[in-house]
Amino acid sequence: MINLTKRQNEILKIVKESGPITGQQIAEKLSLSRAALRPDLAILTMAGNLDARPRVGYFFNHNYEVKLQAEKFLHQKVSDYKAHPIVVGKSTSVYDAIVQLFLEDVGTLYAVDETGQLAGVISRKDLLRTAIGNRNLSELPVSVIMTRMPNIVTIHPDETLLEAAKKMIANHIDSLPVVKEADHEKDTYLLLGRITKTTITRAYLEIMEVKSG
Ligand code: ADP
Repeated sequence: MINLTKRQNEILKIVKESGPITGQQIAEKLSLSRAALRPDLAILTMAGNLDARPRVGYFFNHNYEVKLQAEKFLHQKVSDYKAHPIVVGKSTSVYDAIVQLFLEDVGTLYAVDETGQLAGVISRKDLLRTAIGNRNLSELPVSVIMTRMPNIVTIHPDETLLEAAKKMIANHIDSLPVVKEADHEKDTYLLLGRITKTTITRAYLEIMEVKSG
C-alpha cells in the first residue's frame, strides 16, 4: 500500500466523481498542464488506483479500493477488537456452566484456575455431550469435560484478525482466548479476552463500511 500525495488524492477524487475523464480534462480542473500531470497519472495507473483506456480516458478502479479495504481489515490487531471473555472457575458444575452460557448468550466459556490463569475451554458441544450422558450435572465440575492446556489454541493481542481467522478455520473452532504469557516455564497464560467468528464478521462489516442493520 503506497501513500499518495495531496495532488494524487485530488486526481483520484476527480476521476471518482467524473470518470471516465481524459488527462486533459483532469489537468484543466486542477489548473495544471497535461505534462505536469503525467507522472502522477502514471503512478496512479501503475499502482492500480486508476484504469486508463485509450481515447476514452481514466476510470476509477473500484476493485482496487475494495482490495485495500480488505487488506486493512485483515491487518487489524486482535487487541482492538477482542471481546470480554466469559469466565467460570474450573470447579464450577456443568449445570451452572450451562446456565451461564444462556445468561451470557455466548457459545463458549473459559475456565480459570484459582490464580486467574486460563485452564480450559468449554463449548456448547462439550456441554451437550455431557448432558446426554445423563450424569449428575450439578455434581460434575467443568474441569472434567473441558479442553485443557496445552491443547488450547490461543491468540496474542498483537496478532492480527487474519491470524485469528486462520487459527479458527484450521482448528475447526468458533473462538480463541486472547492471552498473554504469565510464566513461560510453567506454560501459564493470563486471559485478556476472546475473539469469535462474530468478532471477525463485525470487524469486516465495520471496515468495509457496511451498515449491520
Ligand atoms: P461448538 O462446541 O459449539 O461446536 P467449537 O467448535 O468452538 O464450539 O468447539 C469444538 C471443540 O473444540 C470443543 O470440544 C471445544 O472444547 C474445543 N475448543 C473450542 N475452542 C477451542 C480453542 N480455542 N482451543 C482448543 N480447543 C477448543
